[in-house]
Amino acid sequence: MKKHNFSAGPSILPGEVFAEAAEAVRDFNGSGLSILEISHRSEAFSEVLDEAHQLVRDLLNLPEGYQPLFLTGGASTQFFMVPMNLLLSGEKAAYVDTGAWASKSLKEARRFGQIDVVASSKDDGYTFIPKDYTLGSGYRYLHITSNNTIYGTQYRAWPEVDVPLVVDMSSDIFSRPLGDVSRFGLIYAGAQKNMGPAGTTLVIVREDLLRHALGELPTMLDYRTHIAKKSAFNTPPVFPIYVSMLTLRWVKEQGGVEAMERRNLAKARLLYEEIDRNALFRGTARREDRSLMNVPFVLERPELEQDFLAFCEEAGCVGLKGHRSVGGFRASIYNAMPIESVKFLVELMQEFERRFS
Ligand SMILES: *Cc1c(COP(=O)(O)O)cnc(C)c1O
Repeated sequence: MKKHNFSAGPSILPGEVFAEAAEAVRDFNGSGLSILEISHRSEAFSEVLDEAHQLVRDLLNLPEGYQPLFLTGGASTQFFMVPMNLLLSGEKAAYVDTGAWASKSLKEARRFGQIDVVASSKDDGYTFIPKDYTLGSGYRYLHITSNNTIYGTQYRAWPEVDVPLVVDMSSDIFSRPLGDVSRFGLIYAGAQKNMGPAGTTLVIVREDLLRHALGELPTMLDYRTHIAKKSAFNTPPVFPIYVSMLTLRWVKEQGGVEAMERRNLAKARLLYEEIDRNALFRGTARREDRSLMNVPFVLERPELEQDFLAFCEEAGCVGLKGHRSVGGFRASIYNAMPIESVKFLVELMQEFERRFS
């Protein structure tokens, strides 16, 4: 039985993508070779890379001057690569601390400049997105985490600031339109939440922000290296990029990020309505900041936690255990999650209520 996978990451991808990727491992486009053995300099793979870059540009409406890159090292490498590339000696950046990933990103950034935490929801257990703060002057950028995967909070509106936004979009990239892209200086996202398998990281950078002297940064860690070589300076992660490209093709076929947003809204509404209605469960994030991607909730009677998890697993719903740092439950309902699976989970919650209340 194919399971309903509510895991936060690595996570669900569209069934069509799994099928096509599996076939490409055996025989890539009828070439008689596996995608895993073709040269990363071959024409066949260059086409994959070109299409992947182009899909990012098309889906997110990237203007001139923005470069999509497929890198390695996960979003965690971007925590330091971003300040390394965007801050010159003595410069400063502003960070908003909205969770575990945000706080890791600012900790790494401190190695490369003065980092000021201009707002934080830490004292309230990261249950909301801070909005009332003013940015002082002199910052090169403001770093935010658009969707807090662990705590289930998400920015509904982008901060109105007069410096470029740098955004960790690891868990909500391609889940909705970005609006006016010119407010962003840099966007990064590990693939394994909403774009593809683990192993590649999408970075979108506004080229004019890169001001270091050439040769000053280690070659591999200078975005300009990868811009010049179109993400193929060294051997890129061929398979993760290929599967990400297939997923982006799928997003486009479904109607793009606008269609994704409509679906994601419908799925999230269904689940939050049940959490709010069902006397056994309670949501943990502040309502106005609730994520459309990761839905955390707890039981009013915590002693039933194991029972609920076992009940769900028996029915084929997996990945519902909350992050080890917060406990409870978390249903991740990324782009590829069909609404039928969310309906199924809602029915399980109703059945559990009938049994235990
Ligand atoms: C998962 C996650 C990360 C870490 O990603 P890696 O690719 O494992 O380094 C960073 N930020 C956010 C928001 C995440 O969800």
